[in-house]
Amino acid sequence: MLLGAGFYAFPLPLGAWGRVGHQTIAYIAQDHLTPAAQKAVREILGPDQDLASVSIWADAIVRMRPETAPWHFFNLNVRQSQGEYDIADVCRNHDCVVDQIEKDYGVLAQRFSPLREKREALKFLVHFVGDVHQPLHCADDNDRGGNEKWFRYHGPSGRSWHATWVNLHGFWDNLLEPKAKENSRRFAYWLEKKISSEDKKTWAQGKPSDWAYESFSIARDDIYNELPDGPLLEKNRWGQDLPEDYYSGKMRGIVDRQLEKAGIRLAYLLNNLFPQ
Ligand SMILES: [Zn+2]
Repeated sequence: MLLGAGFYAFPLPLGAWGRVGHQTIAYIAQDHLTPAAQKAVREILGPDQDLASVSIWADAIVRMRPETAPWHFFNLNVRQSQGEYDIADVCRNHDCVVDQIEKDYGVLAQRFSPLREKREALKFLVHFVGDVHQPLHCADDNDRGGNEKWFRYHGPSGRSWHATWVNLHGFWDNLLEPKAKENSRRFAYWLEKKISSEDKKTWAQGKPSDWAYESFSIARDDIYNELPDGPLLEKNRWGQDLPEDYYSGKMRGIVDRQLEKAGIRLAYLLNNLFPQ
C-alpha cells in the first residue's frame, strides 16, 4: 500500500524526493562513475561513507544551519512567461540550488581545498543535484513550491474509503514506486535498466541552470497547468480532490525519468571533476 494513514499529514518542507529518492539518485551516480572518480569520492568521504549514505545529510542539518534552507530550491513563477535567464533574478546572493551546485563544484575543483571543505561540498552536491531534478523545487505558484496547495487523495486506485490530506510538494517528494520504499539499491538497478546509451549521451551535458529550467518547465507544463492557481490552504482543502490517476498516470514516468537524469548528471559532474 502506497499511502499509510496519515503518512502525508506532516510532510517536511525540504525533503525533496525523501530519503529513498536521494539514495536512489546517489546509487545510479555511483554505478556510472569512472574508476578515477570512484577513488576520489572514497578519499573525500572516507571508508565508512558513500554517496548514498551522505545523500540526505543536507536535509538533516537545515534546522541547525537555517542559512542553508534556501539552497535547496528556487522559486520561479509558473504563471508568468519565464526565460532561462530569469533564474538569475530569483537567485539573489547565490542563495538557491543552482548557484549552490556551482559553488560546491568549485570547491571540489580546487585542488588545494581543505579535505574538510571538500567533504562538505560533496555532501551538498550529491543532495542538491537531486533537489534540482524535483520539479517543485524549481517552480512556484505563490504556494511555496506546492507546500501550500492541499488536496484530498483517495489512494492510487481511487478506492480508498478514507482520503489522505496531501500537499502537492510533499506528495511529489514521495511519488516513488512502492517497491522503492523497501530498497533504494534495488530500485536504482531497476531504473538503470531503462536508461539507454542515447539517454546517457543526451542527459550528460549542460549546466545546473539548464537542468533547473527543464525542471521548471515540467512543473509548469505537466504539474501546475492542471491545477488551480495559487495557494489552496487547509481550510479550503475539503473542496479539492487530486485526480485518481495522479500516481499511475503520467507522473509516474516523469518521476522515474527525473531520478534517472539526476543520477546520470551527478556522475557526469563527478567524472568531470576527477578525470582519469
Ligand atoms: Zn533538499
